[in-house]
Amino acid sequence: VPMLRKTLVAGNWKMNPGSLAEATELASSLAAHEARDVIVFPPFPFAHAVTSVLGGDKVGSQDICHLDTKGAFTGEVSGPMIAALGIKTVLVGHSERRVFFGDDDDVVAAKVKQTLALDDVTCMLCIGETRDERDQGITVDICNVQLSKALAGIDAALMDRVVIAYEPVWAIGTGLVCEPEVAQDTHAAIRTCLAAIYDEDIAANVRVLYGGSVSPASVDDIMSMPDIDGVLVGGASLVPDSFFRIIRFE
Ligand code: PGA
Repeated sequence: VPMLRKTLVAGNWKMNPGSLAEATELASSLAAHEARDVIVFPPFPFAHAVTSVLGGDKVGSQDICHLDTKGAFTGEVSGPMIAALGIKTVLVGHSERRVFFGDDDDVVAAKVKQTLALDDVTCMLCIGETRDERDQGITVDICNVQLSKALAGIDAALMDRVVIAYEPVWAIGTGLVCEPEVAQDTHAAIRTCLAAIYDEDIAANVRVLYGGSVSPASVDDIMSMPDIDGVLVGGASLVPDSFFRIIRFE
């Protein structure tokens, strides 16, 4: 099976930073660091400015907010509007969306479809177990269910535009990074699940990132794992020196 996976470092800014000036400064400092594949996910109101600085290939949207393309939906943002900015990646199913905003597996599945309906746009699909689920020993079952439901009806031909981000919920924003070997086991299980849904070739070629309290101190060990192709970084992506070190993982 040919393996074509390229590494990817993604920075999820969430509802940060607090001003447009800080957002463009963060983007400008990053623009000077031509390294590996890097994508940042700014908040919507800053997305245009950040795209002007970095180019659409390096900018993602944190969500698709509405499944219609346009219409009377006050406060919402559609996929084509995101794509119109030149943005090439959409994050779907982040645990904060699932927990705080009611994005259940059906909503996530619809957003995956909507994202992949956009020309040339990649879907970064987040999955992961809670502390309770890990303690119960059902991490892999949870990931398999989330993965199968999110990808239901997604044609194999579209899978070159899907990236999986495995983010144990208990590791997000807690400083409790998952042990690299433990994360590796889950990443391998995710590939087994992809092989069952699709085939070995797709399982071997889809990028699977790890997310959850990634820092300069932990990134090298995480990236040394064979089935971990990159990292999705929250808090540390807002601190330029930390993020630059993470991009330069060894
Ligand atoms: P964290 O967030 O790096 O701050 O844990 C990761 C994420 O939510 O994607």
